[in-house]
Amino acid sequence: MTAGPEISVSPSSSSSSATSATAMRTHMCGDLRARDSGTRVRLCGWVATRREHGEHLAFVDLRDSTGVTQCVVDGSVEARTEWVLQVEGTVRMRPDGNENPELATGEIELGDCTVEVLARAEPPPFAIDDRAEVDESVRLRYRYVDLRRPRMQANLRLRSRIISALRAAMLRQGFCEVETPLLWTPTPEGAREFAVPARLHRAKFYVLPQSPQIAKQLLMVAGMDRYFQVARCLRDEDLRADRQFEFTQLDIEASFVTPSDVQAAVTEAVLDASEAARGERPGEVERITWRDSMDRYGVDKPDMRFGMELVDLGEVFAGTEVRAFQAECVKALRLQQGSELGRNKLDALVERAKELGAKGLAWFKVSSAGQPGGTVPALESPLDKFLTDSERAGLLSHTRAEPGDLLLVVADSWRRACEVLGQLRLELGRPPVASGELRFCWVTDFPLFDGPNEEGRPVAAHHPFTMPHRDDLELLESDPMAVRSEAYDLVLNGWELGSGSIRIHREDIQRRVFDALGITREEAESRFGFLLSAFRYGAPPHGGFAVGVDRLVALLAGEENIREVIAFPKTQSGTDPMTGAPKPLPEESLKELGLRFVPRAE
Ligand code: ASP
Repeated sequence: MTAGPEISVSPSSSSSSATSATAMRTHMCGDLRARDSGTRVRLCGWVATRREHGEHLAFVDLRDSTGVTQCVVDGSVEARTEWVLQVEGTVRMRPDGNENPELATGEIELGDCTVEVLARAEPPPFAIDDRAEVDESVRLRYRYVDLRRPRMQANLRLRSRIISALRAAMLRQGFCEVETPLLWTPTPEGAREFAVPARLHRAKFYVLPQSPQIAKQLLMVAGMDRYFQVARCLRDEDLRADRQFEFTQLDIEASFVTPSDVQAAVTEAVLDASEAARGERPGEVERITWRDSMDRYGVDKPDMRFGMELVDLGEVFAGTEVRAFQAECVKALRLQQGSELGRNKLDALVERAKELGAKGLAWFKVSSAGQPGGTVPALESPLDKFLTDSERAGLLSHTRAEPGDLLLVVADSWRRACEVLGQLRLELGRPPVASGELRFCWVTDFPLFDGPNEEGRPVAAHHPFTMPHRDDLELLESDPMAVRSEAYDLVLNGWELGSGSIRIHREDIQRRVFDALGITREEAESRFGFLLSAFRYGAPPHGGFAVGVDRLVALLAGEENIREVIAFPKTQSGTDPMTGAPKPLPEESLKELGLRFVPRAE
């Protein structure tokens, strides 16, 4: 088809065509409107549907990444679903009553069409329709077809907008993008790493970075001052809805900063990205310490879109005779209108609490039964008869319970009581991901150490280069588990969006932390001696952060699973049904790499 002089290449209606017009098309399929009536145009795309009306008329809905245009072809047309066509025609109003309000282009159609088939296609393995329920392994096997669906197209385009907003925010704030190596060496961040055999160095391996952590710290020693990277990271960990082997981080490091400087830079970037995605800037980012978050929400990544905060009952049961409540910590969760739950549901909740590690779960139904006027609530529970009047009154007043509520009580160690009720809170009250609201929150003052491990030693909660909280340095040797750190997480709607910390840049403090972790001088030297020696050449105080881009995009897209916002993800078992990866290597490649496989031990 040759371009006639009458073909319009300066669309009146849309900005997308201004950049998307090519030698083969003048407009995109989602562009045309009533105001384009009378214009001769050329579109390219896939046949979404085709209907023949007798022998003399065919309707083809032509689809590209922007939408669909109805093309009316006089005579029959040889084209089936998903064939690729170029259609030239004249924009005209649809006859009265034939408009389609569901379509952006629903007022118009192309008439007087000529059609050229650019590629034939086999029938698609499933319908290109967001409503079609298709098994995920089939979707991933034919990902190139799956990605034609409007929802997936929208997700990938949203991802691109978010990444470009993040990048723009970092550049505006004076950060410089630096690429760091993929063929790297182990980084001590706790995740299992992927190894790559080195062909030129028999029996030696590169390691794919679980993050650019050490490289970015070296860039600070190198005087780069403010670094960022949209970095691919690789971790050989079990896959979940919010975890893939490879993922993308907005990785950041800056010199001469405090936690609030790093948090301000990250906040700016994620708010910009949210605005780019949603068209409006979310409200203020909340702040909470780790200890408060555990106390109030029972998790270190609080979902603040809903209340149901945990209530401390220590005061109420301080001198209790009730054996079940004689514990380090007694906490309650109030479920409004929960007293309607039947015995089976209550038993299931008790079982769930035990599964989560609690010794038990006490429940109290709050009712006004038997009370004239029903003003003072009564409790209904197998444990009620063991409570004193003041315990009963305390339980009701501390939880602000009202008739109809259900109170769930756990008595255990502080950490266990918080964690069990925190999980029940999520299971009973959490709104779906796509609820619309965005509640960002900084969680600060994390403990420096987790554990202890099997050897009774603390393990690094973040990584071994995280700076201990300046007020707790004295406790490093005497009470390491009580030491807080200069580490902080960013949380969005209960998802951990990323972590960061101020790093140790002083050799004496690093030595003390290594000692607490049981890392000997020799081991430190062999594992990351290059970093420690770099620090001897003048290390600025520095700190940083990494934002999980896949999670951010999923949340902004309202998707529960990050695979929906990644073009070519792996399945839960780490395979790619489309390419067949992972696959055996040909014998010759193995030989070249010096690899021989040992059968798995039974
Ligand atoms: N490297 C850390 C991570 O990947 C982030 C940081 O501390 O900057 O979680």
